[in-house]
Amino acid sequence: MAPKEIDGSRGEGGGQILRTSLALSLATGTPVRVRNIRAGREKPGLLRQHLTAVRAAAEVSGADLEGAAMGSMEITFKPKAVRPGEYRFAVGTAGSAGLVLQTILLPLCLAKEPSTLVLEGGTHNPAAPPFDFLARTWLPLLGRIGFPAEARIERHGFYPAGGGRFTVRTRPAGDLRPLDLLERGEVRARRGRILQSGLPERIAERERDLLLKGTGWPAGSVSIEGVESPGPGNAVLIEAECDALTEVFSRFGEFGVRAEAIADHVMKEYRHWLAGGVPVGRHLADQLLLPMALARGGSFRTLPLSSHSTTNIASLREFGFRVESEKAERNVVVTVAGG
Ligand code: ATP
Repeated sequence: MAPKEIDGSRGEGGGQILRTSLALSLATGTPVRVRNIRAGREKPGLLRQHLTAVRAAAEVSGADLEGAAMGSMEITFKPKAVRPGEYRFAVGTAGSAGLVLQTILLPLCLAKEPSTLVLEGGTHNPAAPPFDFLARTWLPLLGRIGFPAEARIERHGFYPAGGGRFTVRTRPAGDLRPLDLLERGEVRARRGRILQSGLPERIAERERDLLLKGTGWPAGSVSIEGVESPGPGNAVLIEAECDALTEVFSRFGEFGVRAEAIADHVMKEYRHWLAGGVPVGRHLADQLLLPMALARGGSFRTLPLSSHSTTNIASLREFGFRVESEKAERNVVVTVAGG
């Protein structure tokens, strides 16, 4: 079969077009050629995280692979059947290990046997889903769709040192069912968490104080947790448990950025979601599309779509999946149907 041609410069022009194409290639057995990889980014082509994802996809499927090198802007990927088993994938930098996981997890769940995956690299780094979001938001929703998987963190990996590690265990997917996340329901519990390693306690305390002042929550509702990690790092998280799901909002400490600004950013994102009255936040939206497509059905209400979401919708449509989005007054309803 001639490989399906994918243009990696479309829309967002980032790594997600590559990851979604690989995941769909694995899940459907369709060979792909991805050109113009990450053409929309300042440093285009495969970086360590993307290269690790490409190699992981090839390893779990015994794929024929061309073009897998640092900086490469084109790969050809021809998968064979996905083989469940025990795998370890190490990004080797602070590049996101979670994004590597998202490339291979669903195809592995579709296999008939369980898998154990050890992922190493960044677990809490900018512009990627932190481990806590994967474990508390994304994986539980996958479980409800019918892709059972559990994750356990062993070591945190912050930018720039990386070196984090977590394990994911999958069980074969059962009957896949459409998941509908149209109403948020009650926000039953919410809390703040500051994760910190190798930095003065004062930074975390300032973040906690800002969150408590800004939200008016009782003192005990924001915790400071010292974590183990090879390099220093700081993460501010807000977790909101609702009837429909648990959402996790996050931001990471950055050299030269005031602690208050980090905490304030997370609080604003949380408030924006709260005011929008939707269950599904901006980041979760683009990450729900693939599992819903593989389940051949699902819908969710979310905030106005990000370019990650619109680009991911276009990637799914290229593989024949039907995805529609309909604007309501202050939000958007996305409906995913089979191909
Ligand atoms: P790039 O090509 O942009 O350098 P990339 O391959 O690292 O990068 P993107 O294609 O930009 O990544 O995709 C990033 C993914 O991480 C998206 O799915 C986005 O929703 C998700 N993400 C970013 N920030 C968060 C966050 N704070 N919480 C949850 N998910 C996040």
